[in-house]
Amino acid sequence: MRIEEDKKLSFKDVLIRPKRSILRSRSQVELVRQFIFKHSRMIWSGIPIIAANMDTVGTFSMAKVLAKYKILTAIHKYYTITQWKNFVDSVPSHLLHYVMVSTGTSDSDLKKIKNILELSNELKYICIDVANGYSEHFVSFVKKSRDSFPNITICAGNVVTGEMVEELILSGADIIKVGIGPGSVCTTRKKTGIGYPQLSAVIECSDAAHGLGGRIISDGGCIVPGDLSKSFGGGADFVMLGGMLAGHKESEGEIIEEHGKKFIIFYGMSSKLAMNKYIGNIAKYRTTEGKIVKLPFRGEVSITINDILGGLRSACTYVGAEHLKELTKRTTFVLVSEQENCIFNHNDFIT
Ligand code: 5GP
Repeated sequence: MRIEEDKKLSFKDVLIRPKRSILRSRSQVELVRQFIFKHSRMIWSGIPIIAANMDTVGTFSMAKVLAKYKILTAIHKYYTITQWKNFVDSVPSHLLHYVMVSTGTSDSDLKKIKNILELSNELKYICIDVANGYSEHFVSFVKKSRDSFPNITICAGNVVTGEMVEELILSGADIIKVGIGPGSVCTTRKKTGIGYPQLSAVIECSDAAHGLGGRIISDGGCIVPGDLSKSFGGGADFVMLGGMLAGHKESEGEIIEEHGKKFIIFYGMSSKLAMNKYIGNIAKYRTTEGKIVKLPFRGEVSITINDILGGLRSACTYVGAEHLKELTKRTTFVLVSEQENCIFNHNDFIT
């Protein structure tokens, strides 16, 4: 047994120190970034936020809205080929630059991915997603995918440590998804005791990835727009959001009415609800690692997106970053023991 003595950080442990700036207005801030990916050599430009590949977040309806903002959607893996075909046929082809195709790591997943990518030359991003990115099987699937799709940008995860980030990049991944246990509807840390504080994971993994010309996604744990600023400040190239984008019209979920109020169900992809829906049962040797929650219905996602982008622009002006790209080098984190003034509680808020 070994103990690492240095303190690892979550978003709640820090704030970003303001710095002198020559920016006069938030409107001067450019959130669009451009990347050239290591293996695919593809150029992507957009706002580096990704809707998570959960079946009530990474939906076709979400992609149609977010693409207008140049924001990506990782489409969940449970749509059928026919549903994909209808989607691809119904949207302008440039919209597909903001779409990632999610997959698991079985042989049938690989076959399905091939079939989906054949629907359009504009589909160029795949997201190989497993809860535990530390297995040899996962690494060999990443290698197999790189061999099968030399020109496709491959995102792979999830991991939280530098050596595994390096292994996956060297195996053919362009972008590594970072985060184990921080998610809003995740119970992995409670069920297993495994995890890594998200901000430290981002700081350490981005350092490892950038050294090899790779990129990272900070996946999970953002609760407020300020957490995206902290992720980018810590070195994340992309930020993936589940809970913050859940509960909207674009979730494609059933809206429940109770006493005149509208609600919508949101759940982890390893929750009992998701497993029963897609696998039909929960195998005896495993447990659920996801929550099921009932959220007040939040209407259209564009209002939430504007709030998030406004927060990010404002963070950039506070530290004098004219481009989002500069946020990392303009960031000094200060360790804190409280985040906000909590004199009023939720019941007092009008909005
Ligand atoms: P959030 O933005 O909601 O905090 O985190 C979203 C991320 O949580 C997803 O992208 C995914 O990595 C993770 N996640 C989604 N469902 C589950 C689940 O059922 N269990 C666990 N452990 N993680 C989940």
